[in-house]
Amino acid sequence: MARDQFKYDVIVVGAGHAGCEAAHASARLGAKTLLLTMNLDTVGQMSCNPAIGGLGKGHLVREIDAMGGIMGLLTDETGIQFRLLNRRKGPAVRGPRAQIDKRAYRKVMTRVLQQTPNLQLRQAEAVSLILDGQRVLGVTTNWGERYTAQAVILTTGTFLKGLAHIGENTFKAGRLGDPPSEGISGSLLQLGLSLDRMKTGTPPRLDGKTIDWNVLTPQPGDTPPPPLSFLTKTIERPQVPCHIAHTHKGTHQLIRDNLDRAPLYSGQIQSIGPRYCPSIEDKVVRFEERESHQIFLEPEGIDNQEIYPNGISTSLPIDIQWQFLRSIEGLENVEILRPGYAIEYDMVDPRELDQTLAVKKSEGLFLAGQINGTTGYEEAAGQGMIAGINAALLSQEKNPVQFDRTNSYLGVMVDDLVTRGVDEPYRMFTSRAEFRLLLRADNADFRLTPIGREIGLVDDLRWQTYSKRKERLQTAREKLNAVKIAPSELGLKDGGGGRKRGWEMLKREDVSFKDVARLAGFDPEAYGIVEELEVEARYQGYLGKQLEEVKRVREGEGIIIPKEIDWNLVHGLSIEIRQKLTRVQPKTIGQAYRIPGITPAAISALLVFLKKGNRKPS
Ligand code: FAD
Repeated sequence: MARDQFKYDVIVVGAGHAGCEAAHASARLGAKTLLLTMNLDTVGQMSCNPAIGGLGKGHLVREIDAMGGIMGLLTDETGIQFRLLNRRKGPAVRGPRAQIDKRAYRKVMTRVLQQTPNLQLRQAEAVSLILDGQRVLGVTTNWGERYTAQAVILTTGTFLKGLAHIGENTFKAGRLGDPPSEGISGSLLQLGLSLDRMKTGTPPRLDGKTIDWNVLTPQPGDTPPPPLSFLTKTIERPQVPCHIAHTHKGTHQLIRDNLDRAPLYSGQIQSIGPRYCPSIEDKVVRFEERESHQIFLEPEGIDNQEIYPNGISTSLPIDIQWQFLRSIEGLENVEILRPGYAIEYDMVDPRELDQTLAVKKSEGLFLAGQINGTTGYEEAAGQGMIAGINAALLSQEKNPVQFDRTNSYLGVMVDDLVTRGVDEPYRMFTSRAEFRLLLRADNADFRLTPIGREIGLVDDLRWQTYSKRKERLQTAREKLNAVKIAPSELGLKDGGGGRKRGWEMLKREDVSFKDVARLAGFDPEAYGIVEELEVEARYQGYLGKQLEEVKRVREGEGIIIPKEIDWNLVHGLSIEIRQKLTRVQPKTIGQAYRIPGITPAAISALLVFLKKGNRKPS
């Protein structure tokens, strides 16, 4: 084989949600990219629930899409139930979510990646990193191959030294049915990285034909289904309902009686799991007063009888899983297709990374996804895209792209990870974003598509769609400004106020947006601009305040802390603060400010120090 068949610009290890998005972004930016994965039949596999999006997570998917990523488009192609969550709450916290046909998702992800120019998929396990000191030169595989590249991205998910638990049974696995990845942790330790263990769990999968659907409450999706991608106009695929079942006191008692056999309570599992996504055994202990918990029965596909019971992840012994399931109304005769289980795996302290997701102690190594202590497909995909972009740019000797807290949830996530680290699996929530009125799911394209276009990830079709939406928005703004409407035209009784501009009218809670738009002479349903205009009109004051705050934060971000700073020379810092700064190595004043425990006084001391032009003595 010719030598250059083993030589790439970028190697991505793992074809989960981080790996797929990383490989796609890297190849689209023109880097010759290799996607190595342990099994080509599980590309884009959903290890847990068959759903993409949700609160905070839907924002991430929209942002990935706005940048030219693939998760949103493939969700629209394979989604079987779409809903906009929090529809009745404020626009900042609404989140699009879709149930996915899991097999179809794997299939279309494989198709898209296979068709991406510059991208080669290959089945192999990366067993070690090829190192030259701290520099990463490539990977070796279990088949004995050596691949070299300018940059390597590890996206190994739950696979590193994975250990699964079902009651007293433990077995090595990356997830059920897949072997673990044993070698890579050793290379990471060799680089001096700080590793830890985390755990996550999943429910048993049920046979749909053994469920009594008649006694359960159906939960339909929205009509029409709201798409995830800015490019999708309508969802054509047939839609299906979910159903809701309930646990009861008897179910809870059964679980309580068997806690001594639950790995989480017997001491068999020591690692930390996601607090906000507790197992059923956790729920009955922590929320002792609750008499019932909801279970959402989610179909795993259109032509698939397999059902995912959302809300009862468990690692109880299999006999107890059978018993507690069959105690539930509608599930009296249910058959389990696959058991629920928990899994422990190695992860890297994300404070080892910089804002581009490159490992600070090394050269040419990026990490993305669950390996960084996060949980969830969307969090993984977002990091994958960021690492893919930056690895490609590194290989092309171009400047990196960074996201920040003022422009995206992607920026919030990366900043949280690299500045604060994680003490439990990290998932996105809208509450993590300080500027959530500005960072909405509906305006992700206005925030990010120009960045995606500038680096070359956004193609002509997406750019035209974005430009058209921007134009429509501008026209609508002008029309709302020009038109003067009498209250009586909107059926309002308080005629005394006289005629007002469309914008002014929109601020009133008691007017219909559609009516104002109609009188201003534009189509209110014109794709997606309704939410944007509504927020602009109704939340003008808050928006102004957030924009001011953004300006202040950006100023802090603009003050660079030199790499060679010696924290011991900064007067007025406590030992604890010095240690924190040494550990995180913030690149800007803004980043230093966000490290938990860093006080305003410490920031002032730092600013004085920088003003004096102090440096480490050479
Ligand atoms: P993964 O999707 O795990 O993909 C990893 C990929 O890397 C795989 O393709 C694998 O084959 C490949 N790989 C690994 N090592 C190597 C190697 N050495 N060489 C080549 N290829 C390699 N998320 C939630 O949000 N909520 C939950 O409740 C939840 N529960 C979960 C329960 C279980 C049991 C599991 C397994 C996962 C759960 N998840 C949950 C997590 C969710 O699956 C992950 O967050 C998401 O899949 C992470 O994406 P990723 O790309 O980082 O890794």
